[in-house]
Amino acid sequence: MELIIPTITNTWIHLFYWLSGLFAVSIVLEFLMPCNPDQPKLRKGMLTDILYFFVMPLLTRLVRILLMAIGIYVVMHNAKPDDVMSFITSGYGALSKLPVWGQSAIAFILSDILIYWLHRWFHSARMWPFHAIHHSSEHVDWLSTYRFHPINSWISFTMVDVLMLFLGFSPIAITQMAAFNTIYSVMVHSNVNWTFGPFRYLFASPVFHRWHHTAQAEGMDKNFAPTFPLLDIMFGTFYMPEGRRPERYGVDGANIPSGFFSQMIWPFRQRR
Ligand SMILES: [Zn+2]
Ligand SMILES: [Zn+2]
Repeated sequence: MELIIPTITNTWIHLFYWLSGLFAVSIVLEFLMPCNPDQPKLRKGMLTDILYFFVMPLLTRLVRILLMAIGIYVVMHNAKPDDVMSFITSGYGALSKLPVWGQSAIAFILSDILIYWLHRWFHSARMWPFHAIHHSSEHVDWLSTYRFHPINSWISFTMVDVLMLFLGFSPIAITQMAAFNTIYSVMVHSNVNWTFGPFRYLFASPVFHRWHHTAQAEGMDKNFAPTFPLLDIMFGTFYMPEGRRPERYGVDGANIPSGFFSQMIWPFRQRR
C-alpha cells in the first residue's frame, strides 16, 4: 500500500503536467493561427466540456480496466506469471515476434480503419443520437475534444483497444498508440488553420476535422477518418475545398440540451 499510493499519485501528477502542456500549446496555437478568428475563447458550452474532460476519461478507463480484466482472465487464467509478463511486454502469438514500435504502428493503422467504419455507423439514423452529442459543440476547439457520450466512446474507442489486445498486441503498444491518439485528437479539434498543404490527403488536419463538424450541408457525412484521410478518399467521403474554411458548427434543428447530465439522457429519449 505504501508503494501503490505514491505510484498512483505520481502517475496522476505526470498526467496532469503532460495534459497541461498539451492544452497550453493548443491555446497558444489557437491564439496565433485560428481557423475561425471570430470564435469566442470564453464560449457557450465551456462548463459542459470541462465536465466531459473530468468525467469521460474516468468512465472510459473503468470500463477498459473491467473488460481487460475479464479478457486477461479468459485468455490467461491457466498461464504462468512469466507468460503474463511476456504478454504485457511483447504481446502474444505471431505479433509477439514484432518489436513493440512495429506493433504500435500496425495497431494504429488497423484501429484507424475500424474507427472510420464505426464512425460511419454512428452517423446512421439508429446510432446518430449518441454521436450527435459530439457534434453538438457550436464552437469546436481543444476543449470540445472530450465531448462524447459514453456509449459512443465505449463502442468506438474502448472496444477497439480491447479488440487489439485480444488480437495479441502488447498492452505497451496499445498504450503508446493511445497517448498519440490523445495528442492527435486535441490537435484536430483545435481552432487552428492548418490544412497540412500537400499532406492533406495523408494526415487529418484541424481544417479536415472541422469540415466534419460543420453544420453547413456541404460537409455532412464527410471526413470520418481519425488520422488517415486516405480512408475517406478510398470510400468517397473526403471533403476539403481548396482555400475555404467551414464557418458554422453544431447540429441544426435537433434541440440537443446544453448541460452535461441532460446530454447523458437525451440520446435514449430519441430512440424508438
Ligand atoms: Zn461524426
Ligand atoms: Zn470531432
